[in-house]
Amino acid sequence: MTDLRKAKVLVVGAGIMGAGIAQVAAQAGHTVQLFDVREGAAPSAINKLRSSLATLVAKGKMQSADVDALLGRIAPIASLHDAASCTLVVEAIVENVDGKRVLWQQLEAIVADDCVLASNTSSISITAMAQGLRLPQRLVGMHFFNPVPLMKLVEVVSGLHTAAPVADAIFSLAQHWGKVAVHARSTPGFIVNRIARPYYAEALALLQEQCTSPVVLDACLKAIGFRMGPCELMDLIGHDTNFAVTQSVYQANFYDKRYVPSLLQRELVDGGLLGRKSGRGIYDYAEGAAHAQLATLATAAAPALSGVTLHGSGSRMDAWAHRLSDADVGFTHDRSSDWSGLSTPTLQLRQTDGRTATSLGANVAVFDMAFAPEGSRVLAWAPSLRASAECKSEAQDWLSLLGYQPQQVADQSALIVARTVAMLINEAADAVQQGVCTVEGANQAMRLGVNYPAGPFDWLSAWSAQGVIDVLQALDTQYRGERYRVSPWLRQQV
Ligand code: NAD
Repeated sequence: MTDLRKAKVLVVGAGIMGAGIAQVAAQAGHTVQLFDVREGAAPSAINKLRSSLATLVAKGKMQSADVDALLGRIAPIASLHDAASCTLVVEAIVENVDGKRVLWQQLEAIVADDCVLASNTSSISITAMAQGLRLPQRLVGMHFFNPVPLMKLVEVVSGLHTAAPVADAIFSLAQHWGKVAVHARSTPGFIVNRIARPYYAEALALLQEQCTSPVVLDACLKAIGFRMGPCELMDLIGHDTNFAVTQSVYQANFYDKRYVPSLLQRELVDGGLLGRKSGRGIYDYAEGAAHAQLATLATAAAPALSGVTLHGSGSRMDAWAHRLSDADVGFTHDRSSDWSGLSTPTLQLRQTDGRTATSLGANVAVFDMAFAPEGSRVLAWAPSLRASAECKSEAQDWLSLLGYQPQQVADQSALIVARTVAMLINEAADAVQQGVCTVEGANQAMRLGVNYPAGPFDWLSAWSAQGVIDVLQALDTQYRGERYRVSPWLRQQV
């Protein structure tokens, strides 16, 4: 296997990603040349790096001798011909297939035949990029995440031509650079950008359907450990960027309805409401702008003192049993019930299995899934459209007695967390089915590439394949179409 740990590295493109890649390569001891077509861009990137490293020295996080040594290993070059002796090229130029193909063809005429060619593209097919190369087997994707020095993940992307030893050499090199590498097949969005689509798409669908407010949506997903809710995250990324990625994944999948972009997001983009950078997106960032608040409720007294039954088993129902005992509520526990939650003579309060409360009866309310009971207690719930006012207030009182901050949302299939997580699992399952990545690769990619609190298959282990399928099928019954079709891989797990 090619060993790249002593490679002489050429980084092409001295933008935000190229500068970061040059830094981590030099930090790992490589000699690095940096090239950019824009005159002065490479020296200026090195100067910026010098200042940011000086800040680390001032904070005592790096020694100045180490900084000098690191910077001494990076040299700007004015012509690609100065890099004839390099043994690894990492390309981080503008995201355009023709531009990248031209660059690779130029480089093939300059570097030796055993030089490995790696592209940091986030969306272009490695197979397509290799077209026209004399030695396409040495081209591989090496997809870093921004900011490169901080983000641990590298997707090592193989196209149809890529030789396995080349991908393996890049995999080992990424590890040598202190990263966690995962292998990916070159398919639209690779791993992270593909599996993450539903995090945005389901939030946009819920907003479009007037199911709830952005504040509630964000709070419910942060309650299971996401650092940012989907609305605030899209506002940060920029709706123009996010919409472009969604459109490219949709087009690249031959307009598979699974990936249909959102009308709401197009309206935001068309109206220049791009998020934080334009002062308004889903939220308004103007000073003094009003923001909706989460509902808060004083902890209620036990609403009914006889005929209370807990249904189902598992850690959540065990926690509920403790809470009820602490509150001196007498109850029976039917562990063999086919649903989870609580019933009284006047109410069924059921954990969502995907079906709406309305479809389950009159005096029924459903509440959302939880994957991190120790975290925030914000929880979405919805009453049946036929529920009486007393029944609604009873449901809310029980949830608050059980320690939640309940947020009433519209009675849509699978509420917020169950819907979003089921779709993330389903997308990851399809990626595994199609050989894009392994189960562990998907988990690592989502935890490290976008800081998810858990990988999609961690959630699957805490749930069940049948439970996820039930939710997807309920969504499919409600909406019809291809969007919620169940991954064959998931069906095989039952
Ligand atoms: P950027 O615009 O900051 O930098 C691109 C640089 O490439 C510019 O300095 C430009 O002058 C230079 N350039 C353009 N054509 C060139 C050529 N033919 N030869 C040499 N230099 C050329 O872009 P970026 O954000 O650093 O992205 C670079 C690549 O990394 C893209 O493929 C992008 O999709 C990918 N990427 C970006 C991110 C991100 O968050 N920005 C994350 C992962 C991957």
